Amino acid sequence: MRISHLRQRLQDLGAKPCHEDRLLRGWSQVCSYDKKGSPAETFFPATLRNGLPAIEADLNGLAHLHSEHAAGEGVARLLVELHDGQMVESVLLPRGGLCVSTQVGCAVGCVFCMSGRDGLIRQLGSAEIVAQVVLARKYRAVSKVVFMGMGEPAHNLDNVLEAIDVLGRHGNIGHKNLVLSTVGDVRVFERLMERCAHHSLPPPCRGRTEVRVESLKGDVSTPTLPLPLHGGGNLDSRGQSGIIEKVKPALALSLHSTNAELRAKLLPHAPTISVEELVERAEVYARATGYPTQYQWTLIEGVNDSDAEVERIAALLKGKYALMNFIPFNAVDGLPYRRPSAVRTAEMMHTLNRQGIYSRVRDSAGQEVEGACGQLRARAVKENKPARIKVLTK
Ligand code: SF4
Repeated sequence: MRISHLRQRLQDLGAKPCHEDRLLRGWSQVCSYDKKGSPAETFFPATLRNGLPAIEADLNGLAHLHSEHAAGEGVARLLVELHDGQMVESVLLPRGGLCVSTQVGCAVGCVFCMSGRDGLIRQLGSAEIVAQVVLARKYRAVSKVVFMGMGEPAHNLDNVLEAIDVLGRHGNIGHKNLVLSTVGDVRVFERLMERCAHHSLPPPCRGRTEVRVESLKGDVSTPTLPLPLHGGGNLDSRGQSGIIEKVKPALALSLHSTNAELRAKLLPHAPTISVEELVERAEVYARATGYPTQYQWTLIEGVNDSDAEVERIAALLKGKYALMNFIPFNAVDGLPYRRPSAVRTAEMMHTLNRQGIYSRVRDSAGQEVEGACGQLRARAVKENKPARIKVLTK
């Protein structure tokens, strides 16, 4: 289901934009439709109230928990079953983070990832993406959403951006706490840059405009870095009075190598764009939004952990509004790769930090439960488990 289809359904029941907004707020925040001095009972038109139970039943049926696999330190992998029996993975991260999937399977086919092994199975609708947040919020507060689970967001961009808009406008998630991850696709850069233009608000409903001011403070997932010279960052989600900007997520770019030939081997079906162009395009967006680009680098021993790579990263990112996330490879059955030693990983990070390129090591959540991206789903599909296991506690 797409949010646009949900909106149409609401409109068919007599909903105006303000009613749609109230319903999307209640659904995405898992809270009441009531507002102080404005109970839903009198706010929603009668036709909408009558149709609400059926709509809620459909929304509740979008995603449910198949099983939960705790990995310690506030991390848990959720195997999420969709309405048609397909499964995706979401990951609860520390400090209110949630990683969501955007597709069942993936067409990029990264050699180190289980999600891409069977190719793309189907797209997730925008409502199914938001439903993963709704599901997680039934168990835990969610204040950051990263689109880094199963799937390549660039291959399902309309749905991903629709979900981002709902989460940023109605879901109480600060814009820079929405992190869109991609292997790099011209369409992503173009669509994101379109969002940097101002857009007029829709006409107010009953004389009131519901505009929420996003708080960009206290962020953890997208650190605030000093903007290098000639930057013109925009840290506010609002423009002048009466004008609101589209939700602009932070950007994560999966690089994995600076060597074009090696990158093409690691990410066989990623668009053929030079790393220089990727970095330049990401830089334009980073400066337009004021959010640094987060480069992702799955570290594989003997493959992309050389001194030469570190040197090229340093040259490529020097002076850029960016940070490097090294993610040591998670063991995957049947794959010959290994993660570098902790010493080597730290050495790479420190070398870049010494050269002024902010770098950090991030563990891929769920290693303890063999939960590298896509493994839970692959195992469940293989075993065709009929029973659901519900082990989460509030
Ligand atoms: S790492 Fe991401 S882009 Fe690559 S195959 Fe896995 S899900 Fe797709």
